[in-house]
Amino acid sequence: MKYISTRGTAPVLTFEDAMLTGLARDGGLYVPETIPTMSKGDIAALAGLSYEEIAFRVMRPFIGDTFTDSEFADIIAKAYAGFGHDARAPLVQLGQNHFLLELFHGPTLAFKDFAMQLIGQLFQAALARRGEKVTIVGATSGDTGSAAIEAFRGLDAVDVFILFPHGRVSEVQRRQMTTPTESNVHALAMHGDFDDCQARLKDMFNDFEFRDGVRLAGVNSINWARVLAQVVYYFSSAVALGAPHREVSFTVPTGNFGDIFAGYIAKRMGLPIDKLVIATNQNDILHRTMTTGTYETMGVTPSISPSMDIQVSSNFERALFDVYGRDGNAVSQLMDDLKNKGSFDVSQGAIQGLRELFHSGRVSEDETSATIKDMFARTGEVLCPHSAIGAKVAVPHLGTTPMITLATAHPAKFPAAVKAACGQDAPLPPRMANLFARDERVTEVENDLTALETLVRERIAR
Ligand SMILES: *Cc1c(COP(=O)(O)O)cnc(C)c1O
Repeated sequence: MKYISTRGTAPVLTFEDAMLTGLARDGGLYVPETIPTMSKGDIAALAGLSYEEIAFRVMRPFIGDTFTDSEFADIIAKAYAGFGHDARAPLVQLGQNHFLLELFHGPTLAFKDFAMQLIGQLFQAALARRGEKVTIVGATSGDTGSAAIEAFRGLDAVDVFILFPHGRVSEVQRRQMTTPTESNVHALAMHGDFDDCQARLKDMFNDFEFRDGVRLAGVNSINWARVLAQVVYYFSSAVALGAPHREVSFTVPTGNFGDIFAGYIAKRMGLPIDKLVIATNQNDILHRTMTTGTYETMGVTPSISPSMDIQVSSNFERALFDVYGRDGNAVSQLMDDLKNKGSFDVSQGAIQGLRELFHSGRVSEDETSATIKDMFARTGEVLCPHSAIGAKVAVPHLGTTPMITLATAHPAKFPAAVKAACGQDAPLPPRMANLFARDERVTEVENDLTALETLVRERIAR
């Protein structure tokens, strides 16, 4: 199995190298050269298997010879052992033919754990074999950083540094990053906002002497291994509702387009998916693009669903690559336009292709709160704001085909918004109820590249 870049000129890599590289050297994203398929019989045979067994069968063809079967099975077992629900991704029913896929039973209570826990084990196994160490630096507005820290804490082959904007993440999010006690975890509270954190991270990757000196690696959502991990729960949930003998649809709260792109891959692999519905908050660049055919960035307006407050949806590039007939030149041209003019026009053929693959909808702040309130009143389910956006956008698509809305975070991560919407407290699950009693360990840093690089070098030399 080979991986190619969406911009066509970076080296072709194995799964292992694509995973460890992250972003391609031509600025593109890695995708499999061909998408493996599963027959109707293969999919039917998933019925009744554990989440881990389904994960093995769905992901195995993408891994090539990076790991043996037994190594890969072991990696999967370790990745999901820390989840707080035996089903890993359980389904609950919201109404007639409407289901909620709870993806928030991982260690940091958001769906990012599905990918990050797996990638932690994949990195550890690959690096141990190579006898190498890497330094992971990530920037976060909250969820990605805590998921990365949980995934890499205590692994010898990795030091993990997370930059978060000082004073601008929720208390639960901050404590999830600052309370792990392992010495390879470094939570850095930077003066500035999330964009500043991301800018300094980019600067570090562009400082080649630093980058090579500390062996910098990235685990943001453009890493192919993260997308792959998310394909699994599309299969496990669809099969639970009768696939491949009947079709299902999905509605996905979307920011960076990673999660819904995983659904598209599941469909390409042969899973009988009727509709894939993109759900956005007021930062609706994807819904606008689907509607108008023009992808145009505007400023981000903070919302009660902060993990979807994004104006550049990186993984969308992977979908564009396919609807442009895998023409890397055409994708490069679009991305140049985006950089130079802040927008690009999707060609007639490509937008038609996207509209055949995806539906979309947008939810305002008021509608988000109203949906949390209404869902609680009708079903007793307390939804986080991101999941509520999915549940709302799904409504016009409900019918005879089962609709699965992805619940991307636990309501306890966003207790203020939930309480204001439906009057309910959203307590942390018992296994992490002592989060507020644990000691915090955090280093406050200035928005200064040299100071940050010095700190990273000193810490990894210990
Ligand atoms: C990251 C995140 C999203 C958006 O996922 P993408 O893969 O970026 O589309 C939605 N909800 C929550 C809670 C998240 O943490």
